[in-house]
Amino acid sequence: MKKYDYLIVGSGLFGSVFAHEATKRGKTCFIIEKRDHLGGNLYCENIDGINVHKYGAHIFHTNDKKIWDYVNSFVEFNRYTNSPIANYKGELYNLPFNMNTFYQLWKVKTPEEAKEKIKSQIEALGIKKPKNLEEQALSLVGTDIYEKLIKGYTEKQWGRKATELPAFIIKRLPVRFTYDNNYFNDKYQGIPNGGYNVLINKMLAGVGTEVNVDFFSEKEKWMQLADKVVFTGKIDEFYDYQYGKLNYRSLHFENTRLEKENYQGNAVINYTEKDIPYTRIIEHKHFEFGKQAHTVITKEYPKEWEEGMEPYYPVNDDKNVSVYEKYKKMSKNESNIIFGGRLAEYKYYDMHQVIGSALTSIKKEFNE
Ligand SMILES: Cc1cc2nc3c(=O)[nH]c(=O)nc-3n(C[C@H](O)[C@H](O)[C@H](O)COP(=O)(O)OP(=O)(O)OC[C@H]3O[C@@H](n4cnc5c(N)ncnc54)[C@H](O)[C@@H]3O)c2cc1C
Repeated sequence: MKKYDYLIVGSGLFGSVFAHEATKRGKTCFIIEKRDHLGGNLYCENIDGINVHKYGAHIFHTNDKKIWDYVNSFVEFNRYTNSPIANYKGELYNLPFNMNTFYQLWKVKTPEEAKEKIKSQIEALGIKKPKNLEEQALSLVGTDIYEKLIKGYTEKQWGRKATELPAFIIKRLPVRFTYDNNYFNDKYQGIPNGGYNVLINKMLAGVGTEVNVDFFSEKEKWMQLADKVVFTGKIDEFYDYQYGKLNYRSLHFENTRLEKENYQGNAVINYTEKDIPYTRIIEHKHFEFGKQAHTVITKEYPKEWEEGMEPYYPVNDDKNVSVYEKYKKMSKNESNIIFGGRLAEYKYYDMHQVIGSALTSIKKEFNE
């Protein structure tokens, strides 16, 4: 008889939802977390009343009413609507690309005028079969939108020239012919009142946790603690990198506290020109309509991932996908280990998706 029913490795959304749901079903769970706090990438550091999104800006959005009701059952979400602004060489443009953007670019006022402008630019280029990301984007939105709002940002994000990136990275580039600056198309969006830590702490009420513990420092001991292990860390590390390391893109965040009430008037401003090394500046207080006398801003710099850095985005090229498939095959043979979440599945998940995935995993586990 082992001490717990489930040992959960990692306290991000996958681990937290799983722990909450299994506990609700009468099971005992224990979470270990290698960072010095719970919550995974949702974690916010409170700087004198401002919740600073420590691992990158997180905006919850979903079309799924069940998931929206689920998160709101822990904490009510505010009405924050993501409407980022792009700064290109000092010119400001609304995002996503919509009638406001088209007016700012060309002074066009009607959808017909905007459509005509884009169409004529695409036709002038005459790209039939896009060979790379640059050609793909140009063939979808034309020269001006690409040059001012996509090229520099994308090249900074990937650390490579757009002509060296594969076309498939951009499948669609949504353009809206309405004056609508709401970035997401989803029905529901917002930020938890009081920040994401409230959400995680409510989910984990009554669940045993220990932070500053790396599962791999005493893998055998932890494997013996519970009947089953829910593993949300890196799958290649779990298997001792026997098929090689999976690659990621990473980010570097530079936080600055400023003794002024309002620095940029918006939570998210993207810097779309190549020569500014960061991709965006986040002003965190605007996520929660903060009125503090001070503010905290974060400059976000994309980085190539190296050992020791945070693995943020999986690189789903052929090489990494084939390495991952080998680990996945091994994981399918495990009867007492459940692999879930962005690192164990080597997959980019939005928050609503990882919640959905954890709930599916619970249903499977409890034969519901
Ligand atoms: C920069 C950025 C911005 C994002 N913005 C948004 C957004 O605006 N909206 C949205 O919906 N989604 C966003 N996401 C996605 C969101 O972060 C994920 O959906 C979510 O974090 C996935 O949860 P998870 O539990 O799978 O992983 P994580 O949150 O990464 O949790 C995994 C946890 O496991 C721990 N761990 C790993 N290995 C070990 C080990 N060996 N021992 C112990 N603990 C371990 C880690 O420390 C971590 O806490 C963003 C992601 C990034 C990278």
